Amino acid sequence: MARIAIIGGGIGGLAAGCYARMNGLESVILEKASRPGGLCTSWDKGDYIFDGCIRHLAGLKPGTPLNNMWKDIGAMPSDIYFPEELVKVIDQKGNEFTVFYDLEKLETEMKRISPEDSTLIEDYINAIRRLSNTDLMEVGFWGFRDWLRNLFTLIKNRKVSKYTMISFAQRFKSPV
Ligand SMILES: Cc1cc2nc3c(=O)[nH]c(=O)nc-3n(C[C@H](O)[C@H](O)[C@H](O)COP(=O)(O)OP(=O)(O)OC[C@H]3O[C@@H](n4cnc5c(N)ncnc54)[C@H](O)[C@@H]3O)c2cc1C
Repeated sequence: MARIAIIGGGIGGLAAGCYARMNGLESVILEKASRPGGLCTSWDKGDYIFDGCIRHLAGLKPGTPLNNMWKDIGAMPSDIYFPEELVKVIDQKGNEFTVFYDLEKLETEMKRISPEDSTLIEDYINAIRRLSNTDLMEVGFWGFRDWLRNLFTLIKNRKVSKYTMISFAQRFKSPV
């Protein structure tokens, strides 16, 4: 039997170990920390749990490669909660910004905070709508046909892909 050594027991290493075993390879995972999990882990301190783990899981849509992978490795949660909010941020001055998954709600929220940025906000929301049929989390699994099917959308979104998050944020008039 072929043997492989996997360096690191984060999600990547643990998943590689599962696939190695499923494919009949003997594998050993070498982890330098005292416990596995890597970035996706939690620990106790006093009465508290520090949970630095994943908050939102991509790959919930049945039949997608990522969903199949979660099922393969037995990591698909049985109870799935679909929250309305991706994240809520409150700055030192008490300004609140909630990032909603629902695009209409998100647009309303952004315009509430910064009506002067309405045009840019609409550009932003429209770019998300254009991309919403292309699951970028799946890119790593794409074959030639998937690239071909998504090429048009990707070319159409070239305009937004040239921005970094910081350079895009700098175009907003509102400091929030
Ligand atoms: C606060 C936070 C929130 C996140 N939220 C989300 C989320 O909501 N959704 C999402 O999808 N992702 C999220 N992520 C990202 C996700 O957790 C990581 O992408 C994922 O856990 C990375 O896994 P990995 O196996 O690639 O790497 P890592 O988790 O970094 O694992 C690498 C492992 O290798 C070990 N190692 C390194 N060098 C050596 C060596 N020389 N010898 C032996 N062992 C070694 C390390 O100790 C570590 O355990 C979040 C990350 C953080 C920090």
